[in-house]
Amino acid sequence: MRRVFRPVLIPLVAATLLAAAPGGPLPGFPAESARVEREWENRFRAVPSPDSLRAYTRLLSARPHHVGSPYDKANAEWLRARLASWGWDARLERFDVLFPTPRTRLVELVAPARFRAKLEEPAVPGDPTSAQRAEQLPTYNAYSVDGDVTAPLVYVNYGVPADYDRLERLGVSVKGAIVIARYGGSWRGIKPKVAAEHGAVGCLIYSDPRDDGYWVTDVFPGGPARPRDGVQRGSVEDMPTYTGDPLTPGIGSVPGAPRLPLDSVKVLSRIPVLPLSYGDAEPLLAALKGPLAPAEWRGALPLTYHVGAGPARVHLVVKSNWDIKPIYDVIARIPGTEAPDEWVVRGNHYDAWVNGAVDPISGQVSLLEEARGLGELLKQGWKPRRTIVYAAWDGEEPGLLGSTEWVETHAEELDRHAVAYLNSDVSIRGFLGAGGSHSLEAFINGVARDITDPETGLSVWKRAQLHAIGRGTADERREARERGDLRIDPLGSGSDYTPFLQHAGIASLNLAFQDDAVAPSGYAGVYHSIYDDFTWATHFGDTSFVYGRALAQLMGTAVMRLASAEVVPYEFGGLADNVGKYTGEVKKLLADRQDQARERNRELAEGVFAAINDPRAPEAPPPAAGLPPFLNFAPLDNGVAALDRSAKRYDGLLEQVTRVGWAGGAAPAPTALAGLNEKLIRTERTLTLPDGLPGRPWFRHQIYAPGFYTGYGVKTLPGVREAIEQGRWDEANQQIGRLGGVLEAEAQAIDEAAAALEPLAAGQ
Ligand SMILES: [Zn+2]
Repeated sequence: MRRVFRPVLIPLVAATLLAAAPGGPLPGFPAESARVEREWENRFRAVPSPDSLRAYTRLLSARPHHVGSPYDKANAEWLRARLASWGWDARLERFDVLFPTPRTRLVELVAPARFRAKLEEPAVPGDPTSAQRAEQLPTYNAYSVDGDVTAPLVYVNYGVPADYDRLERLGVSVKGAIVIARYGGSWRGIKPKVAAEHGAVGCLIYSDPRDDGYWVTDVFPGGPARPRDGVQRGSVEDMPTYTGDPLTPGIGSVPGAPRLPLDSVKVLSRIPVLPLSYGDAEPLLAALKGPLAPAEWRGALPLTYHVGAGPARVHLVVKSNWDIKPIYDVIARIPGTEAPDEWVVRGNHYDAWVNGAVDPISGQVSLLEEARGLGELLKQGWKPRRTIVYAAWDGEEPGLLGSTEWVETHAEELDRHAVAYLNSDVSIRGFLGAGGSHSLEAFINGVARDITDPETGLSVWKRAQLHAIGRGTADERREARERGDLRIDPLGSGSDYTPFLQHAGIASLNLAFQDDAVAPSGYAGVYHSIYDDFTWATHFGDTSFVYGRALAQLMGTAVMRLASAEVVPYEFGGLADNVGKYTGEVKKLLADRQDQARERNRELAEGVFAAINDPRAPEAPPPAAGLPPFLNFAPLDNGVAALDRSAKRYDGLLEQVTRVGWAGGAAPAPTALAGLNEKLIRTERTLTLPDGLPGRPWFRHQIYAPGFYTGYGVKTLPGVREAIEQGRWDEANQQIGRLGGVLEAEAQAIDEAAAALEPLAAGQ
């Protein structure tokens, strides 16, 4: 068991008082308005309460609440009523979406011995909701096609493309086989996709205890890790192509919307797929012979890992009810006073695979507590400048359905009005994790400096900085010490920010607290199982709900600041710096591929592979590599240089307004401010192209996308990076040109904002 670092606790009351009055300038707020803003923020941060968060969590996770279930609808109505009672204009917005649920599931070993997988998660003593059998959705992968196949089994490690190259060298083909892949290494939907590309006819995905079980730490209920029969449910919709209702790509699935016929949908898996526990996977893996699995492929089950094919033969059956189900987004508004047509949107989903006390309720309860806090401020006379929209999304788990359909339905309004989207989802305890648009990097660093970490009494920013120093590489340490702001992560996918950021081009943030001492992603052990419930949350998660309070304070402060800054508080230095970094990465990627190709061909010529091969366990040499050509990165370099110049000019002017104030000492005419902010809002849109990325037009953002072969994992500068990774050199050249044009356009958009700001800024 890994030791959990437990810092000395500072009494909470003292810590709260300590943080009660942060000072300093606020970018976008000239001096007097910063003082007023800080006063309202301090009042807001006093509202969120761990007791409320605990009560909401208990209620919202009391019964299974997946899409289309009675308790999911009950939760929607309860959320709407709470928001309305706090003074919000709150309503439900309905969409009708394709949501398959399992009718027949079968996995059986038919040779060399017989074994039938349970495909069930047992109730656990001391965990009352784990016994709610009648309402639990069975273990399955949503959007798997129907199928009934019997075939030899092959173990494919994580089932990413490189694993198939290795199998080929081992002389093992998956053509006509059923593959068994372990969870991890990529998003789950990638596994059946790549398996089908290689000719497999079925796919099983299991949780190996090496990554997700007793190897990590003690298993539930004695510890937080995945127990023997715990199964990770989840969607295998091909979300790197598009998200949302599979039947209505690009448009809202409102009543009467045109729908694709099921047999022409491109985002279902091409082969049947089911998830397994390690209890169910063990007899299947134990029945494999053939080559020994490479050392790095072996998991932590008590068996010798072989890849097959066979002699294990498996019979796999998956059949679903292919129903259209209603989903209900809860949408609540506070209208803005001076700039009602500028919207700040904040969301978290409320649907779960089962009880979902952590995923998604841990984030949802913070959202709710923020809404209560903002409602309190309204009663005290607070008036946000911009319109605030709070959203509790339905249908996130199957494919970001609620958020995507809402974004697609309101695309035109959002294009004109949306200033920013702030997302949360799973959040437990520990260190702040922040990802998002780099035009908001400086902004969110500023907010994080004003929020107190409940376990250390430091600011959550300071704790995150020290974490980066304590756990980072030498480069990360240097950067954490010397760069003024902590770098925020670029966003791939896996939660509701995707339609906002990557489809609609709205500057977005995704924030969470996470604990890297428990497991790589914090609470991995019960992810998408029946054990993600109130019992787990109150024994192993944010047990005293103080991090739920910190998340509410952080998010609510960010919303208030975005909603009331006179100048929308984007800064562009972080964007230029990060895009410059990514440009360096894609150049290095090409250089590395050239080096690897040269080295491989040299080793082939030297006879290295033949000499080190074990003739008794032969592995074929890799094929000779084509040498990647040189590419002309000049359009990217020029784009980055232009971006850097414009960013410096704009950020300098904003700093001047923040520090010295407005020209003439009085606020500018409302039309002048509106014109400036409109230009600022366009800057994130400018990073998108209407025809999107190669082969996936729905993904329009040119800086951030989920990887076509990694799923949730981000690919920055995706058009260029993926063309290089996949050896499509003409496309790489084209994409460099397009991206260079996007960066030049972005520089120009920032320059236009600077030109609008300059006459408003007071002299030095
Ligand atoms: Zn979630």
